[in-house]
Amino acid sequence: MDFLFSSPPKAPEDLPQMKYYPIFDRRWQTTVKDKEKSNQTISGGKAKSASSLRSKKMTRAKPYSRKQLFKSSDQYFLDLGQKDFDPQRCKVCNMIFSSGELVDERTHEEYHDMFINSLKYREWKNEDIAANFDDGARILRVLPSSPHFMHKKIDELYKVSDLELNINQDLKSTMKSCSAYFIYITSKRIAGFVDVVRVNAANWLVQEDPPMASTEEVPATCGVARIWIHPKFRRKGIATRLLDTVRHSFIPGEVIDKRQLAFSDPTAIGKDFAKSYTQSNKFSIYLHSHIVE
Ligand SMILES: [Zn+2]
Repeated sequence: MDFLFSSPPKAPEDLPQMKYYPIFDRRWQTTVKDKEKSNQTISGGKAKSASSLRSKKMTRAKPYSRKQLFKSSDQYFLDLGQKDFDPQRCKVCNMIFSSGELVDERTHEEYHDMFINSLKYREWKNEDIAANFDDGARILRVLPSSPHFMHKKIDELYKVSDLELNINQDLKSTMKSCSAYFIYITSKRIAGFVDVVRVNAANWLVQEDPPMASTEEVPATCGVARIWIHPKFRRKGIATRLLDTVRHSFIPGEVIDKRQLAFSDPTAIGKDFAKSYTQSNKFSIYLHSHIVE
């Protein structure tokens, strides 16, 4: 996966009394039932194809309701032995689709448009600038108290990144009073964003495969719920700039130490990033119960 972190953090009702617990434990994922229902044809590839995003109910008028998008995006790249199977990856939106297949191409077009529109940035009134960079890029902050149009944009970004991270969440259902969102703007485009929350503790990730976390708690103040960077802008230090900015402006008057950052469900590349960013072999992850409401 090319993506960094996925949310949500887990919300275990009853953390078992054991030393470690699996952080991807399915009991903690409300969406798993949907997933299992539509899982029968997964071939194990890593990228989603347009075929996999199709839904019988999908119409042109409302092609990407979140539910449809998630349900259909549970499946991965499908290779059912078609003769003319010719998958391509769109270099802009990162979707894999079969060219020459009308429905695939149409599905890709629709997603592509949504992707492009979601990442357009028109100058906001009352921008809350958290950081400015010499190359013209800047980072804006959006808080729960920010105007509705800003939340709408964040929700669009959620939608785009949901698809890539294979999760399904809207902004409203995940926003906490302690949430903050930082978006990275360059050349009137949104190149990425990060979603953070206040946490009061975290757990070490003690094993990566399968992922296990220690039940021993460690201090943490900032939980990184989600980071997403536009495919074209990856590996340019944007995630680092975003987290540096978070550390300097999330808690007023305080600079958060790198070791006080905790992550939620990192993907493979997310783990590498977390280690390189925190300059350590191990980093912590947080659960829903660690969030300071
Ligand atoms: Zn595309």
